[in-house]
Amino acid sequence: REDYEVREHDVLVIGAGGAGLRAAIAAAQRGLSVGVVTKSLLGKAHTVMAEGGIAAALGNVDPDDSWEQHFIDTMKSGKFLNNWRKVEIYAKEAPAGVIELEQWGALFNRTPEGKISQRPFGGHTYRRLAHVGDRTGLEMIRTLQEKLLATDARVYMETTVTKLFKDERGRISGALAYTRESGRFVFFKVKAIIMATGGWGRIYKVTSNSWEGTGDGVILAYDAGAELVDMEMVQFHPTGMVWPPGVRGILVTEGVRGEGGILRNSRGERFMERYDPERKELSTRDVVARANYTEVQEGRGSPHGGVYLDITHLGREKILKKLPTMYEQFLKLADVDITREPMEVFPTVHYNMGGIKVEPESCASTTVPGLFAAGEVAGGLHGANRLGGNSLGDLLVFGRRAGEGAAEYIEQSVHAAGAPDEEIQEEIRRVLEPLERPAREGDESPYLLQEELQEAMMEHANLMRDEDSLLKGLEKVLSIKRRLPNVKVGGTRMFNPGWHTAQDIRYLTQISEIIIRCALERKEKRGAQWRLDCDELVEEYGKINFVVKKTEQGEVGIERREIPPMPEHLAALFREEKAKV
Ligand code: FAD
Repeated sequence: REDYEVREHDVLVIGAGGAGLRAAIAAAQRGLSVGVVTKSLLGKAHTVMAEGGIAAALGNVDPDDSWEQHFIDTMKSGKFLNNWRKVEIYAKEAPAGVIELEQWGALFNRTPEGKISQRPFGGHTYRRLAHVGDRTGLEMIRTLQEKLLATDARVYMETTVTKLFKDERGRISGALAYTRESGRFVFFKVKAIIMATGGWGRIYKVTSNSWEGTGDGVILAYDAGAELVDMEMVQFHPTGMVWPPGVRGILVTEGVRGEGGILRNSRGERFMERYDPERKELSTRDVVARANYTEVQEGRGSPHGGVYLDITHLGREKILKKLPTMYEQFLKLADVDITREPMEVFPTVHYNMGGIKVEPESCASTTVPGLFAAGEVAGGLHGANRLGGNSLGDLLVFGRRAGEGAAEYIEQSVHAAGAPDEEIQEEIRRVLEPLERPAREGDESPYLLQEELQEAMMEHANLMRDEDSLLKGLEKVLSIKRRLPNVKVGGTRMFNPGWHTAQDIRYLTQISEIIIRCALERKEKRGAQWRLDCDELVEEYGKINFVVKKTEQGEVGIERREIPPMPEHLAALFREEKAKV
């Protein structure tokens, strides 16, 4: 029997990125006792890495911008798989989210008249991204963190949640976690949980995501009975670094193209003129990523297997002002001075459009009472392709809504927090197994399994796919899944990365299986799901989302769920837009 600490709160927020912090602030402001857990330190997470900006139709630079146009752009980029109600709420509320952040102390770049400045980004009709140079995420996290620390919320750092618990009526009642420093277990006895664990780029070898992007939350929720949506939609960002090999995949912000960066192949051709003559480099990410990929595949790539991104024409002073991180990143990591030479770039796995299916009004997961989700771990906003800047805005809008939704749930329902000791002990045994069981023949290293998985996903579920390759990928993923019980790690519980990876690999494998299975179902080319063996935008598939739920036998259950028709006031926006052209 293992001793564990018990902590009691009304709400547990899992994740301290932008979504988690914004949700925690909202719940704390409603007078609830809030605990926030993060696998790393407060102030880390992906949000802090965000560069280009927050998309919100403030209309500061282009006064014609409106929530309606932001709605249209987001739906079009998502190829209409988006949850239109979620997009409507987002487009309407994002400007208030940005202004609130400013009121809480965020220092945005300014227009000459002193308004929040906005930069262009791919697929946005107007200049729309509020930004702080190319360090927007840092400013966002700094501001939210200060605001959170002024509340009574309690933050638990370097604490990893491994399981959600429900009471006998299926309502959320707690979560188990262990601290990375000592391996001590903590049981959180809570009435509601807000999942804000971010994405799962780490299922691929080349990604802009950090070690934290292992998708824990999506599988914790799936295991607890939540539905997932659009899991086949993985965003490859068009521009990651390619050289030297150690930095492959690190993001080159879309802000470079937003500020006028031009893509060229080895022949010096501005090839985006062929792929999207109207928007060129500012086309949507799915289109630019495929263009970069195709240029390299067809032999027009750079020496290190990328294409060139040139911003030198902007001039040194402006580059240093608008893109200081990019300047330093290339100088320090690649010995390239971007004020004088072009960068070499290639697509990198960046974001996941799919995620936990939430009900937009309150961010309540539809299937597990007491479980809420916000930020990258939640699906529905972006459909088949996310527009740049729409994630940071998402964190503000739906982070707040998730916090408020959890507060309303707690105020309005009866719940019994806690879980029987036997159930907690069973989970502790499972988590400790790879560390504490004796070694035996056939033991597997979690690192090697992770590498194998990442390679399989890179090879078989890349930005272009077909049935044969997906089936081969599925076979490899399932073979890794069967080998998971053999994972064995050495060392102690203290700061043991092997042990942590032994936990992560379970999530990574399950997500990969789900992605491939959904990609096999969606037989078309649409946004990020580019099936080489299928037609583009097949009408039948434009009307459905693939919704995933764990079956009673523990299998991946996939259901075709019809997208409800758009209400008249939203459908009319597209007719009016057509009439304008
Ligand atoms: P994250 O910020 O990823 O935070 C997740 C949190 O969950 C972390 O605290 C983590 O420790 C915690 N966690 C995870 N698992 C567990 C667990 N099991 N137990 C406890 N805690 C856990 N988007 C834009 O809109 N504009 C941009 O300019 C932009 N630039 C980007 C640049 C880069 C380099 C990257 C990587 C992304 C960028 N994005 C951008 C995307 C955007 O930053 C992310 O989608 C967003 O920040 C995700 O926020 P989040 O709060 O959902 O999750």
